[in-house]
Amino acid sequence: MIDSGSDVLRFEGVSHAFGAERVLDDVSFGARSGELLCLLGPSGCGKTTALRLAAGLEELQTGRIVVDGLAVARPGVQVAPEKRNVGMVFQDYALFPHLDVLGNVAFGIRDRDTEARRKRAFEVIEQVGMRRFADAYPHTLSGGQQQRVALARALAPKPRLLLLDEPFSGLDARLRAQIRDETLNVVRETGTSTVIVTHDPEEAMYMADRIALMNAGRIEQIGSPVELYTKPVSAFAAMFFSSINRFVGRVVDRQVSTPFGRVAASGLAEGQHVEVLIRPEALHVTRTAGSPAVGAARAEVLSVRTLRRATLLHLCCGDIDGTHVHARVPGRYDAAVGDQVDVAVDRSLAYVFPLDAASATSRKP
Ligand code: ATP
Repeated sequence: MIDSGSDVLRFEGVSHAFGAERVLDDVSFGARSGELLCLLGPSGCGKTTALRLAAGLEELQTGRIVVDGLAVARPGVQVAPEKRNVGMVFQDYALFPHLDVLGNVAFGIRDRDTEARRKRAFEVIEQVGMRRFADAYPHTLSGGQQQRVALARALAPKPRLLLLDEPFSGLDARLRAQIRDETLNVVRETGTSTVIVTHDPEEAMYMADRIALMNAGRIEQIGSPVELYTKPVSAFAAMFFSSINRFVGRVVDRQVSTPFGRVAASGLAEGQHVEVLIRPEALHVTRTAGSPAVGAARAEVLSVRTLRRATLLHLCCGDIDGTHVHARVPGRYDAAVGDQVDVAVDRSLAYVFPLDAASATSRKP
């Protein structure tokens, strides 16, 4: 059972199908008051469906959804979207083309006289930096400006919960980073509890207080970005956040052999087929000086790629036909193709997961 104490949104055993396709399978999680939770996962894993169910845009089939202590959806009960106290920003912004910015933003503000609505609309337009464009129509605005208006429209009624569906996906890379920061600032300033759907692990790591990682209609893992990155509960979770070096082997004496020495395989049965996943930054590369350092393996540099803040080394361990691995070294690493290096592993970033019998035979290197 999930801790429901201060959850502003709670999914309890929610399943959902489109025809014969089950897209959510017994999903339970909570988004806490004041936090920014990212629903993260590959395309088609059910993120948008979960968001639409929370907003009331999709009718619940199984389970229960609670917003701010009120069961807004359970079998036979479906509270209308406008009565859920939830604001939503859609992937395509969905602004009303016949209304100017002020009209769009004022639209959802209820129970106020005209002047109060106008005042609140201007307040939030100001907050997103769109004061100059109050009387502009959506088609005259850039993608980034439309996104800001959509955010202002969603925030204007002061919702208890803000739901954002891939809100930056339509923007080019540079603008995306800027609008993402601005959105984060506005959300933090207003203290609005927020759930963001994204398929981009970097975006989730950057923005989220917690990440709920989804896989094929289920919650794979939920926790802080650091927890998910450093303590993945499955191979799927480990591989979702970065490219990863992968070796298969068997547990012997509670350990498994890799080209970089033995790694602990605690909690796994003797003889069990396992996969060992090691993040590229867990490989510590040093120049070869004499014989390899204790616990390090000798490798040859196959390629050097300078990234923005790191260098990616493609290495071959052992013989000419040895294992190929990727190491990510901070900053610029001065190495040339053919150089010999020593590689040691930070074992805290090496993960061991059981392989089922079928994959153990089919995925052996
Ligand atoms: P994406 O990032 O690609 O949008 P997602 O994780 O948000 O993926 P959903 O949009 O929730 O996934 O879709 C999950 C599955 O349900 C997909 O296979 C999709 O084709 C299907 N699906 C979604 N909406 C409908 C619908 N209205 N009718 C039929 N199938 C649907």
